[in-house]
Amino acid sequence: MPPLTSRRAPSRLDESLETVRGIGPHVQAKLQKLGLNTVEDALYHLPHRYEDRRQLQPIARLRPGRQEVFYGEVLAAGETHTSRKRRRLYEVIVGDRSAQISLKWFRYRKDWLQKRFPVGQKAVFIGEVKSYGALREVHHPDAELLSADSTMEQLFKSDPLNFGRILPVYPLTEGLSQKQFRKIWYQLVEQNAPPLPSILPREILSRHNLVPLATAIQASHWPPNNASLTELEQGRDHWRQSLVFDEFFFLELGLALKRQGVQLEQGISFNVEHRYTIPLNKMLPFRLTDAQRRVLGDIKQDMMQPHPMNRLLQGDVGSGKTLVALMASLIAIENGYQVALVAPTEILAEQHFLTFELWMEKLGLKTALLQGSMTAKARKEALLSIAAGEIHLIIGTHAVLQEGVKFHRLGLGIIDEQHRFGVRQRGTLKHKGQNPDILVMTATPIPRTLSLTLYGDLSVSVIDQMPPGRKAIETKLFRENRRLDAYSLIKDELKKGRQAYVVYPLVEDSEKSDLQAATAAAKQLAAEVFPRNTVGLLHGRMKSVEKEQIMSAFRDGQIDILVATTVIEVGVDVPNASVMLIEHADRFGLAQLHQLRGRVGRGAEQSYCLLIPSQQYSEDAGKRLQVMVSTNDGFRIAEADLEIRGPGEFLGTRQAGLPDFRVANLLRDVRLLEVARQEAFNYARQTDYLTDNKSREVREELLARWGGRLELAAIG
Ligand code: ADP
Ligand code: MG
Repeated sequence: MPPLTSRRAPSRLDESLETVRGIGPHVQAKLQKLGLNTVEDALYHLPHRYEDRRQLQPIARLRPGRQEVFYGEVLAAGETHTSRKRRRLYEVIVGDRSAQISLKWFRYRKDWLQKRFPVGQKAVFIGEVKSYGALREVHHPDAELLSADSTMEQLFKSDPLNFGRILPVYPLTEGLSQKQFRKIWYQLVEQNAPPLPSILPREILSRHNLVPLATAIQASHWPPNNASLTELEQGRDHWRQSLVFDEFFFLELGLALKRQGVQLEQGISFNVEHRYTIPLNKMLPFRLTDAQRRVLGDIKQDMMQPHPMNRLLQGDVGSGKTLVALMASLIAIENGYQVALVAPTEILAEQHFLTFELWMEKLGLKTALLQGSMTAKARKEALLSIAAGEIHLIIGTHAVLQEGVKFHRLGLGIIDEQHRFGVRQRGTLKHKGQNPDILVMTATPIPRTLSLTLYGDLSVSVIDQMPPGRKAIETKLFRENRRLDAYSLIKDELKKGRQAYVVYPLVEDSEKSDLQAATAAAKQLAAEVFPRNTVGLLHGRMKSVEKEQIMSAFRDGQIDILVATTVIEVGVDVPNASVMLIEHADRFGLAQLHQLRGRVGRGAEQSYCLLIPSQQYSEDAGKRLQVMVSTNDGFRIAEADLEIRGPGEFLGTRQAGLPDFRVANLLRDVRLLEVARQEAFNYARQTDYLTDNKSREVREELLARWGGRLELAAIG
């Protein structure tokens, strides 16, 4: 889908910063470095701090650690040096009636300073106050000189831009000074903010005590004097929050409309007759958990609707999503439709194939596995029988999405581990049939904030319960010097007839040495540590056939210890494996560690995850390891991950489609996101876009802001 262009009338906002008074080519080049090209960019280039220059503080009351503004008279001045004569410096002692303070320069031109600060000179100083015991100093302060007969009041009056108010402090690049920048920005904001139209409906603003865009922008740059500095600095003030709301509202409105668009489309209305699901239920060695039942209920409801399903199924590793997917598949199949299941890796596709085929065969249904590594002949045969409708369930990697794959009648598309795919793949799958239902599964727990923005156009079901009888996995951290303890724990498990994983990291820039490490470790483990056991090696560079052989040998118990790079991260299901040792555990991300750990603890036995970090690791890595030791709860891990890494990196921003916000901060503004979401979804329900003039404005603004990024063509 081509990105939409804005239909909003060209406005002053789109104009280049060249056209702004006070910005010459020199300054413009610097602004470009900050990513500022248009007037709109500039309006949204907000202060990252504020400086309180409403009143001057007496010197006695200056607080260490803060940027302060104070008045003083020069009492003494001259060159001197640091305590052990290491460095020359220039010192100026100033005082007012309350106290004295020392100003210091370490890089200076002596004659210039001498001239500027003779004894008796009065000035206003600005700088960060440092405290060394009882002494307070300011290094390299800014100063505004006062002539002998002028007063403070006069200064405040003559320079109202820099005194007597709360000043913005902007993120800058080299070669621009705050003072210069402030001057340009003051004019720019004064001229361009007030005419900004208030597009958000008034009722919504007043309901949440928010102000129109023009006011919000203006006051965020130049807060009124009665503002709270603490709120401003935390971004929790009224004006900044209004901007955040504005940003969230349009995003959520886009998602709401996208969802509505899907709901208006004609889809398949399935009948649920339980022709296969009842027999399957009888064959299963266990009962579905309540959570599985509830989620299946959601899915059935969706499938019965005459509109396409677009549902996200979230559930922690091992919570039983696969079985739910199988049940949903059977409903499509009993209606005479085919099902496609797309997995991110060949190993996982094969794993799914084995699980599904086991049951499908018993029900007299046909399953096919499409693989990149198939011979041309086998592939052709498979494609033919898929096109002829002889195969009910087709499983594969993105090979399934390729053009040559034609379905007879695709009714349901399932995407496993959505976080590895983009929005595109969902679209491709959809076009393989006539608006088939789509079920997306993920074991990557996503904090609520993020799922509201990432998957906002999907309905969400969560399996929040583990199958009964599972014991919590015990996670232990071993430093290198206790490696033998880790091995002896593995030995105990092997003696009981269980199996083990040993996992090595593999990152692209040290791929070769990582592979060598894993290969060498496999040899060493086999020869020295576990001579009585069989050790196998699995890594991403092997051919698929080899990988499959190793996996099935492990599954069948012919291999006791599987040394692997992270190819086993998702989906692999060998319940008899009860212990996993992760080498260089500090090099893995939290989500990855959690996924890996989920490979054990799949049977009724107590399972273990043993973490051995590198000799040295970062503070963040230490936090991650602690989180792993302290909890098994995927959602808590996700929250911690979000906190440690920040939202941008959390899912690898762009690939995962997480939007960039100009003002909003997902960690700080969760509450407002939820409010904006509610309002936006209500608004979408209640408004008729095509007739109502006011909402046409809203729609145009929406398209201008998010149209391309959210693929909102359908709502144009
Ligand atoms: P997920 O895909 O959510 O990671 P799986 O579907 O692979 O989880 O299920 C993990 C294991 O739990 C599988 O071996 C599966 O057979 C088993 N299982 C699924 N549902 C139940 C249940 N209700 N009771 C007991 N075991 C179950
Ligand atoms: Mg799974």
